[in-house]
Amino acid sequence: MSNPHILAVPFPTQGHVIPMMELSQCLVNHGFTVTFVNTDYNHKLVVNALAADESQLSDRIRLVSLPDGLEPWEARHEVGKYCEATQRVMPGKLEELIEKINQGEGDKVTCVIADESAGWALEVAEKLNIRRVAFFPGPAAILALQFSIPKLIHQGIINDDGTVSRSQMIQLAPDMPTMKTTEFLWACMGDLTEQKIVFQLMVRNNKAAKLAEWIVCNSAYELEPAAFTMAPEILPIGPLQASSRLGNPACYFWPQDSTCLQWLDQQPPCSVIYVAFGSTTVYDQTQFQELALALELSQRSFLWVVRPDITDKTSDPYPEGYQDRVASCGMMVGWAPQQKVLAHPSIACFLSHCGWNSTIEGLSNGVPFLCWPYFCDQFLNESYICDVWKVGLKLKKNENGIIPQGEIKSKVEQLLGDENFKARASKLKEMGMTSVKEGGQSHRNFKNIIEWMKT
Ligand code: UDP
Repeated sequence: MSNPHILAVPFPTQGHVIPMMELSQCLVNHGFTVTFVNTDYNHKLVVNALAADESQLSDRIRLVSLPDGLEPWEARHEVGKYCEATQRVMPGKLEELIEKINQGEGDKVTCVIADESAGWALEVAEKLNIRRVAFFPGPAAILALQFSIPKLIHQGIINDDGTVSRSQMIQLAPDMPTMKTTEFLWACMGDLTEQKIVFQLMVRNNKAAKLAEWIVCNSAYELEPAAFTMAPEILPIGPLQASSRLGNPACYFWPQDSTCLQWLDQQPPCSVIYVAFGSTTVYDQTQFQELALALELSQRSFLWVVRPDITDKTSDPYPEGYQDRVASCGMMVGWAPQQKVLAHPSIACFLSHCGWNSTIEGLSNGVPFLCWPYFCDQFLNESYICDVWKVGLKLKKNENGIIPQGEIKSKVEQLLGDENFKARASKLKEMGMTSVKEGGQSHRNFKNIIEWMKT
């Protein structure tokens, strides 16, 4: 009999790799060994970042990698092309990898935990007769939306290919946040061709999810009761961020600039605006500069993550003389240790693109939000933050599609001038914590799955 050996297969983008690694770390804490499957391209980034951060993963997590079907120089942010290439190449490579592991001397793979968005990995596991768990790192409401695709087609809300004939607001079930059809996850990803590819991937993933013995999600019942009631097959096991890893390396693609933590130590409590837009968002030059000027105008301290690829401009993207002007109150870094930043007492609020990881990292630390969604599940997350949990404010675009500096400044003032936001955020933090503690629902679900995986 093999020791329990999990093969973890994330969807190969940063926002999916991090929570899968967090889940892996939780499993290692319970005695499992994990083989973690990155793409060759991401693997290189992760290994470089680990070396630069001088950090090491647990020796019970083995990093391996597979080709993703693109050449090293090809762009991974073209979502349609990336989805097609990975679906075409990775299943065969994954099968070979599992067979190689199982024919070797070490422990055989006893269970595959695959990202729900990489349904092909569940198909491979089923073919090889290995147990399967589907892990969805986003909100349950988005997975419930994906599971509702046949119904949405039947009701004429979307067409067979996922396209939306008219923009309307819908509610999947009572008490769920309303969603705009043109902001459905697949409907706001790239151009029409890309949208159709993403939609087809979701249709395939719906079938693949049926192959999984468990479908789990990095959320908590307390955060999304209506979504979990609507789709009871989805089990909450989060927020993993509240239970697992603060401070552990988590498969970052870029080295973290930890000097910002010392800078934060020098700032008064609840004084700093933390600004970060996740791993993929890109801003045009005008919007980038408008944000830069807004932060200056706010006359508050700020820590701003400016990834090297955050604008389409290759040279200095800041307004002229900007970095000198804000040197006494602002700090810009290429990639921050975000969870440690959000846990720092000097942070007052989080200006965020509302990726789900960022959302629950903010929640897990009781930080109020200013919301600036971009695509994917971010509009729904904004709606949770502002309309349902009421721990943040939305930013409004002007007639040119830009969020102007005055809007940003006034929303900062409004958010920080009303203590109710912080009070509600602190309450939500407690709720999330309760869920992953002994006796909480996420904790119970996780324990049941672990017991099942051990037998
Ligand atoms: N992140 C980080 N440092 C940064 C910016 C982001 O560690 O400077 C992490 C963040 O903590 C989160 C992830 O990157 O875990 C981003 O995931 P999210 O779902 O928020 O957004 P995505 O990148 O998928 O758009």
